[in-house]
Amino acid sequence: MKPPTIAPDRLPALLAAMPKAELHMHIEGSLEPEMIFALAARNGVALPYASVDELRRAYAFSDLQSFLDIYYQGASVLLKEEDFYDMAQAYLSRVAAENIVHAEIFFDPQTHTARGVSMETVIRGLSRACADARARHGISAALILCFLRHLSEEEAFETLEAALPFREHFIGVGLDSSEVGHPPSKFARVFARCRELGLHIVAHAGEEGPPDYIWQALDLLGAERIDHGVQAVHDAALMARLAAERVPLTVCPLSNQKLRVFPDLANHNLKSLLDAGLCATVNSDDPAYFGGYVNDNFRAVFAATGMTARHAWQLALNSFEASFAPAADQARWRDQLGEAFERAAAA
Ligand SMILES: [Zn+2]
Repeated sequence: MKPPTIAPDRLPALLAAMPKAELHMHIEGSLEPEMIFALAARNGVALPYASVDELRRAYAFSDLQSFLDIYYQGASVLLKEEDFYDMAQAYLSRVAAENIVHAEIFFDPQTHTARGVSMETVIRGLSRACADARARHGISAALILCFLRHLSEEEAFETLEAALPFREHFIGVGLDSSEVGHPPSKFARVFARCRELGLHIVAHAGEEGPPDYIWQALDLLGAERIDHGVQAVHDAALMARLAAERVPLTVCPLSNQKLRVFPDLANHNLKSLLDAGLCATVNSDDPAYFGGYVNDNFRAVFAATGMTARHAWQLALNSFEASFAPAADQARWRDQLGEAFERAAAA
């Protein structure tokens, strides 16, 4: 199937209107400053910021670590099941309006269990929001549990054990947080156990870390999808493998810009990844912190790099292909994509 021709001036509206899946977003990274303040008030948590504006001004990051420091502070307002529900509900209702048809949502249980919040509280709140979103907004959503890589292998094993009573509420596991100095190899045994349990495997690799981390994620963890992966361009053999095996990369343009992975969005390599035949997708990572949700990412990266409707078509198709959703759902979304392009061509 080939997309109909779209006039360039219709492209921005089409980017917003076309159906798409989001596969790389951390639900704790969807906490808007307003919600952080509202939950802090509801739970009696003291914040080191006087106002919503002051907190928003603190979102000037220089690298991944400077972001993570504020991110963990923001998550400290999440205490009760209702808080997790409200956070996920806010994200899902927002992105349903952005024509996201499917979301695979990362959550970081260790950020919460370390503060005395139970695994059950976290998972039940998030899972209920996912179920309700399907009924309310027609959007399908699934959870992926992420291990914090700056913590130990032992702590990852403990987290997995604590989550297993709620196994039916998440579809896979991932690896996130501070990348450099914490290679995938550190968690090879944890992921081996997760594969035995039949969990899907994804991992952050090649955001700030070297291409070698991507090789490790594939060969030592069994990753089915690489989160970020933009550093792959520095390794020709890796690029060839990613293209040949159609290993998806969940790319996050505004995050890369905000954390200075690229000097400027105009230098972003998303277009080269697509043109090299890789299954790259567009995602928001931590939308409240990095300046936008999925449609903001599409709008900004297309404006900066001059990608065309053909790239938009491929990115939407890639997002369905890269998802863990059933084939029948993917086929339905492809039909909806064709319809969105037909409407844009006829408008
Ligand atoms: Zn991420």
